[in-house]
Amino acid sequence: MATIKTVGVIGSGQMGNGIAHVAALAGFDVVLNDLSADRLKSAMATINGNLTRQVTKKTITEDAHQKALARITSSESLEGLAGCDLVIETAVEKEEVKRKIFHDVCAVLKPTAIVASNTSSISITRLAASTDRPEKFIGIHFMNPVPVMELVELIRGIATDDETFEASREFVAKMGKQIAVSEDFPAFIVNRILLPMINEAIYTLYEGVGNVEAIDAAMKLGAHHPMGPLELADFIGLDTWLSIMQVLHEGLADSKYRPCPLLVKYVEAGWLGRKSQRGFYDYRGDKPVPTR
Ligand code: NAD
Repeated sequence: MATIKTVGVIGSGQMGNGIAHVAALAGFDVVLNDLSADRLKSAMATINGNLTRQVTKKTITEDAHQKALARITSSESLEGLAGCDLVIETAVEKEEVKRKIFHDVCAVLKPTAIVASNTSSISITRLAASTDRPEKFIGIHFMNPVPVMELVELIRGIATDDETFEASREFVAKMGKQIAVSEDFPAFIVNRILLPMINEAIYTLYEGVGNVEAIDAAMKLGAHHPMGPLELADFIGLDTWLSIMQVLHEGLADSKYRPCPLLVKYVEAGWLGRKSQRGFYDYRGDKPVPTR
């Protein structure tokens, strides 16, 4: 079986820096790639900050922190990933962007390298078909925030071979994560169930059944959810939710997955949640204030 030692991570946003963090802590060498030196610098600062927090909480030692940081290098170009045994793409949830990345990165990778996508919803079989190695392509879907969440979904495309699946399973297990194996259907398992619930929470707001505070309090206190659905929507990013709802709606051709018009409106306004300081809450002050 292919042994994974060096892992490339394409996209250093909230998911990419988390994946680089947990892979480096587990002893893998990591090459982190993004479009600009500034983004990579900011991702490295985030990783350092999150590792420091783990040291403060005594979940890792200072030695582990420093060793993990030293295992991560960054590269603005895909050529920097040439030596990787596994590459995980975690750029924006846009199929044409991902296809271009796979086309470009496969040209520099060795033929044995495994290529994975952290996509939340796009067909693994279709993405695999856009590469020169569909049998070495797999979905490795991490949850946010990566250093905290225990689960990773593994999704085989129709052509994924057993060796790729087993090497990916071993890679995930080494990072201390649990695996749920999902068939390749839109949004896999977690998001297939979670997204319609969040969308329904937004419809509940849109139809005036409750305001932001009432909806979040209802689900936290009435269903024991650790976060309210609108708080969670802001945390993940409203643009990401919208893209996934669109994939469910189109992929399953069922009107029950229709994205709520209010979600569309927030995204059109650029109110994407925490990352843009405004979503269902306004985060610009000392504490979040509901926007409806
Ligand atoms: P993000 O917007 O925080 O980060 C995306 C990063 O990709 C940015 O830094 C951007 O500069 C970079 N990027 C864009 N095009 C690129 C390219 N051509 N080459 C290299 N880098 C490029 O997004 P995110 O929340 O980290 O999501 C990334 C992926 O992970 C998406 O496919 C998303 O669906 C998936 N995902 C997200 C979550 C979540 O909760 N946010 C959970 C699981 C999976």
